[in-house]
Amino acid sequence: MAVERTLSILKPDATKRNLTGAINKVFEDAGLRIVAQKRVRLTQDQAGAFYAEHKARPFYGELVSYMISEPVVVQILEGENAVLKHRDVMGATDPAQAAEGTVRKLYALSKGENSVHGSDSAESAAREIGFFFAQSEIPG
Ligand code: ADP
Ligand code: MG
Repeated sequence: MAVERTLSILKPDATKRNLTGAINKVFEDAGLRIVAQKRVRLTQDQAGAFYAEHKARPFYGELVSYMISEPVVVQILEGENAVLKHRDVMGATDPAQAAEGTVRKLYALSKGENSVHGSDSAESAAREIGFFFAQSEIPG
């Protein structure tokens, strides 16, 4: 298995409830390493563009409003099989469906306010890392 990188976002419900350390402990305990990280307040345009794939979905407007409601932490996680490992430890989108011990089972409030984002493929990871991080901010 190859060492990969993936994009992680600690969403507004997580920063608001002071859960960023607790959530990152779950990721670090799973063998994922934070190699770049910043706390930012997204603009409406950024949040809308980041979630452009969901533009036609009924929850899109609510999702964009939520994502700009508080700061988020955007970070690059690195590890063996990081994309899939991160998705596994995040848990299902809906916390009611999430497995025991996953971040969303432990901390998510609802299907919308579900604490974390993670890239869903290697291709998404490359695109999403480039969306948030300049080349000069990404360690070699
Ligand atoms: P994931 O984040 O698990 O990859 P999706 O890509 O399907 O999930 O959706 C992106 C985000 O949109 C979710 O994490 C969640 O915040 C929000 N979302 C998805 N489905 C719903 C829904 N039915 N109602 C409200 N918000 C939703
Ligand atoms: Mg997704």
